[in-house]
Order: sequence, then C-alpha cells, then structure tokens
Amino acid sequence: MNIISLKNVNKYYKTGNESFHALKDITLDIRESEFAVILGKSGSGKSTLLNIIGGLDSYDTGEVILDGFNYKNADDKIMSEFRCKKIGFVFQSYNLIPVLNVYENITFPVNISRENIDTDYISNIIEELGLKGKEKSFPNQLSGGQQQRVAIARALANKPKIILADEPTGNLDSAIGKDVLKLLTNGVKEYGHTLVMITHNPDIAEYADRVITIEDGKII
Ligand code: ADP
Ligand code: MG
Repeated sequence: MNIISLKNVNKYYKTGNESFHALKDITLDIRESEFAVILGKSGSGKSTLLNIIGGLDSYDTGEVILDGFNYKNADDKIMSEFRCKKIGFVFQSYNLIPVLNVYENITFPVNISRENIDTDYISNIIEELGLKGKEKSFPNQLSGGQQQRVAIARALANKPKIILADEPTGNLDSAIGKDVLKLLTNGVKEYGHTLVMITHNPDIAEYADRVITIEDGKII
C-alpha cells in the first residue's frame, strides 16, 4: 500500500517579480515500511520536496496524499495535528528547544498532541539511542552527535508512521553518521516505519530499498 503519494506536484518560489520553478511535475509513490532515499545535488529541490511531503511547505499545483489524507483542503490546525500524529521530522540542524532538557525535548511532540506519554517506549528509545543518564541535560551541554540522537528520539516519540529526515548525517563525522543511519533504519525494521531520507551521499543510498534521484526539481 502507498503511504505517500504525490501527483504532478509543482512548486514555484516567488521573490518580487521573479518566479523560480523549484519542483517540476513530481509524481511519486512510497509504500508503507519502505526506506526511500532522496539523492541529489545541493539546490536540486530535495528539502523542498521533503517539506511538501511533510506538510511544512505549500505547493502550487498537484496533489499530496499521506496515509489516505489529502492535504488539499486542510487548514493549518488540521495540518499541524496530522503532522504531530503521523510524522516524525529529523532536521539537519536538530532544531532542539534550548530551554527544555533532553527528556522534555523528546516528549515535546507527545505533549503537543495531548497524547499520554508511553514511558516504557520512551525509556526504550532513550536506552537504544545511548541517551540514558542524559535526560536532564540541556542541548547546549551535548555534543553534535548526542543532539542529533535527541532529535531522532523526538521524531520517534509519538510513534509516527512516517519519518522524514533531511540530511540527518550531514553535520556528523562518518562514524557517528553511520550510527545515526543504523538507528533510523532499525526503526523501519522494528516498528515498520516508512523512512524518507535526504542525502547527497551516494554511500547511504546503498542501504535504501529505493533511491529517488532529483535534478533541477525533476525526478530522473
Ligand atoms: P536542496 O535541499 O536539494 O539543496 P532546496 O529544496 O533547498 O534544495 O532548494 C531548491 C531550490 O529552490 C534552490 O535553487 C533554492 O535556491 C531555491 N529555494 C529554496 N527555498 C527558497 C525560498 N524560500 N525562496 C526562494 N528560493 C528558494
Ligand atoms: Mg536541503
């Protein structure tokens, strides 16, 4: 079954009188529990595509359907509820909240969606990601690798069906990058997540079920 479905999606960035065609007629289906990699050079449109899949950015024409939910007529409130419940995001820049400690950062999406915290599940994630004992630390007391692992834990906290990761290993040295990759792909095996990961690293693409290559806003 397709959990992510895009049909003829076009996206233009408008700045003043200029219009830039960032995504050109993207049609794409991703199956449930698939690990898909989006590969492409810097500026090719990878982040734009991922943000549209995640409902974080608008598109001009076409259709985006996630888990049977069509983005077309959803207002901001419905969109953000949908995102909280269904999607875990991992950004290259971690985007942790500096005034919250590790545990509070991880459980933030659960609290936002007013769900009960599954403490056993959260402890499990914390353990698996090697963050035990760091629960009360603040982001600025952690290394880059640790911060990225907190961001991954946060993405998993709400048991989302879909994980979207934008160059999650980009800022990490290669050993830690491999760990991060392993943790994300383990989630696919263990919890049946669908994982869509952006990278410009062809080595990472080898681990994927499927590689989507994007060039100048087009899938090739
Ligand atoms: P990638 O993630 O592959 O590096 P992006 O999706 O970030 O590429 O960007 C694709 C293209 O769209 C780039 O040429 C970039 O300059 C342009 N772009 C991205 N965001 C904006 C924006 N907010 N306004 C105008 N142009 C943008
Ligand atoms: Mg990008």
